[in-house]
Amino acid sequence: MNFLEERIIRDGEIKPGNVLKVDGFLNHQMDVVLLERMGEEFKRRFIEKQIDKVLTVEASGIGIACMCARVLQVPMVFAKKSVSSNLGDDLYVSEVESYTHKTTNHVIVSKKLLHKGERILLIDDFLANGCAMYGLIDIVEQAGAEVVGIGIAIEKGFQKGGQDLRKNGYHLESLAIVESMNAETKEIIFRK
Ligand code: 5GP
Repeated sequence: MNFLEERIIRDGEIKPGNVLKVDGFLNHQMDVVLLERMGEEFKRRFIEKQIDKVLTVEASGIGIACMCARVLQVPMVFAKKSVSSNLGDDLYVSEVESYTHKTTNHVIVSKKLLHKGERILLIDDFLANGCAMYGLIDIVEQAGAEVVGIGIAIEKGFQKGGQDLRKNGYHLESLAIVESMNAETKEIIFRK
């Protein structure tokens, strides 16, 4: 088991609806030493990609994306969530369905912050059905930039996002892939 898998076993909680709660170290309280290690691991896996910028979506991807950008020494941009329908033409806009909240948000990025030809690494805390990632991919494509990698902390391998992104040719690296989890027995099995 790697360092993140060990921490998930120790402090993760399985909630109804196939939700893994990691509020003790990732989503509410943040263990910055762990985040730093994750950033370094993403650097190791993506170093050859010549990344210009790290892009995530608020709020829970920000901590990991920051650490990753720090070790790669590139800027980090986070897409903002907006419920407003009055969105200016100085923004890239995409729609994302929230897995945990069951709502649809606009995610927006200022056109000043993403440019044609830039090589972008997408980062997020969880990958479930892939909605958040496809929203970010859409924004990167609108900008004429290129997604050169996707780094995920925890992929839920029993949901379709990972398989779909890999099938579509994206270089996806997940630090922990949950193969199955059982709320009753509290058992979590990781992909080897
Ligand atoms: P997707 O868009 O891939 O369906 O879901 C990914 C997004 O939903 C992530 O940005 C994450 O915030 C949230 N999410 C999905 N599954 C979980 C989960 O099991 N636990 C937590 N804490 N967040 C999740």
